[in-house]
Amino acid sequence: MGSPTGKHEMRICVIGAGPSGLAQLRAFQSAKEAGAEIPEIVCYEKQADWGGLWRYDWRTGVDEYSNPVHASMYRYLWSNGPKEGLEFADYSFDGHFGKPIASYPPRAVLFDYIEGRVKKAGVRDWIRFSTVVRDVTYADGMFTVTARNGEADTETKEQFDKVIVASGHFSFPNVPYYPGFEGFNGRILHAHDFRDAREFEGKDILILGTSYSAEDIGSQCWKYGAKSITVGHRTAPMGFDWPSNWAEVPALEKVEGKTAFFKDGTSKTVDAIILCTGYKHHFPFLPDDLRLKTANRLAASDLYKGVVYTGNPDLFYLGMQDQWYTFNMFDAQAWWVRDVILGRIALPDAAAMEADWQQRQADEDALADDYACIVYQGDYVKELIAETDYPSFNVDGANEAFFQWKKHKKKGIMSFRDHGYVSPMTGTMAPPHHTRWKDALDDSLESYLQTTADAAE
Ligand code: FAD
Ligand code: NAP
Repeated sequence: MGSPTGKHEMRICVIGAGPSGLAQLRAFQSAKEAGAEIPEIVCYEKQADWGGLWRYDWRTGVDEYSNPVHASMYRYLWSNGPKEGLEFADYSFDGHFGKPIASYPPRAVLFDYIEGRVKKAGVRDWIRFSTVVRDVTYADGMFTVTARNGEADTETKEQFDKVIVASGHFSFPNVPYYPGFEGFNGRILHAHDFRDAREFEGKDILILGTSYSAEDIGSQCWKYGAKSITVGHRTAPMGFDWPSNWAEVPALEKVEGKTAFFKDGTSKTVDAIILCTGYKHHFPFLPDDLRLKTANRLAASDLYKGVVYTGNPDLFYLGMQDQWYTFNMFDAQAWWVRDVILGRIALPDAAAMEADWQQRQADEDALADDYACIVYQGDYVKELIAETDYPSFNVDGANEAFFQWKKHKKKGIMSFRDHGYVSPMTGTMAPPHHTRWKDALDDSLESYLQTTADAAE
């Protein structure tokens, strides 16, 4: 800790090198590039590479070092919202790919885009890969972070002035129990462990849940040849124009053998049950007094401005909200947290910080519909970027892309990804993809970047 001058040099710990953690590294690097003195930054990443959920992992269960597998993404995953809503303001899609690309890129294309920015920024050396944070404690104004490097099988304890938790919240599955599960003669899995829709080709599948995982995993299974898809809803059906072999039914009551019985007395014999029942905010490395406890919502509990932990303002959380906006919202948060740490933004007293998140939740509770939620999160992004030097961008334009996306989903759930939108960063209109989503079985970067003319050859 000590420097030759005896001056204490500030050290910052970032936990996780997914889009949120990488936004934090890029935020500090951009300040350094502009001439600021920045603290020492150490980022711990439990996986062997960066990108968070966007790094595909074929493993399920535990990883090569017996830690829980982080990955929840699967093969053939395409963005479920328009890329125009997540674009970085300091690094456009047009700039990265050297040409306009279509609006719903597959996972590999978005991974390439995320990686392009941080490769250019040169921050890889700040990251300790294959190193899982196991414990964080706070005493006498300093954090002690215990981390284990899986490759070397060694543990370190280091001290930090500030900790930024960017470990994501879509990795620890919420797994409900229904009577008869223990005797089901087929496969029961959570969306977290779903990897390849081809596994369910020719099968009858039951999905529980009605949110994005249910919609998208069901659509994948349909696209890759499942025999039938049945979706059980606890609250309300999704109500899209589903294909003929897709049914929405009331909540599951019980399972006997391979037969599922629903609340309305109907039943269906199925080969597999996929629990698309959401995730938990779970931080096994944090003690009670530092651990965020919140529902998956737009205004998380106990976070001033959505990022400062009110229980200890030396601790920050990134990306803990439910997400319409993603990458550029993480950027807005990371730039703002950077400026608090650099002393450019002052925090108010504890009572004001407490009042802030409570007011945000009251405002969220009053929102009428999804359109209002999009505007609300867009306004949050605007609020944060107005207070830092993150490049200001056309948030209303991004809102508009989300509005059109919602309308296109209503018009055709299997065709919404065939539409394109205007970039809020460059004003470019996205060209259509060369192949309709339902017919595009190849999700590789090479295939996606082909133009309609290339693909026709
Ligand atoms: P993550 O991406 O989860 O990254 C967290 C990182 O922290 C990981 O690298 C992890 O290994 C690391 N980590 C965790 N614990 C530790 C520890 N103890 N020690 C060290 N490192 C740790 N968003 C979109 O915008 N578009 C989409 O199409 C989209 N699709 C999605 C599909 C699925 C199935 C899921 C689950 C989410 C999807 N999302 C999508 C939302 C997604 O949450 C964000 O895009 C983004 O990945 C969140 O970034 P993050 O950095 O906050 O978290
Ligand atoms: P989610 O949005 O939190 O939804 C959880 C769902 O589980 C809800 O429908 C909920 O139903 C249901 N549920 C919870 N407990 C249940 C129970 N005991 N029985 C039955 N149903 C239960 O989680 P998610 O759908 O996994 O989405 C998580 C994130 O992943 C989102 O950010 C999403 O955008 C992302 N995602 C993206 C893609 C993509 O295509 N790129 C694909 C998948 C996921 P109620 O409504 O009744 O509470």
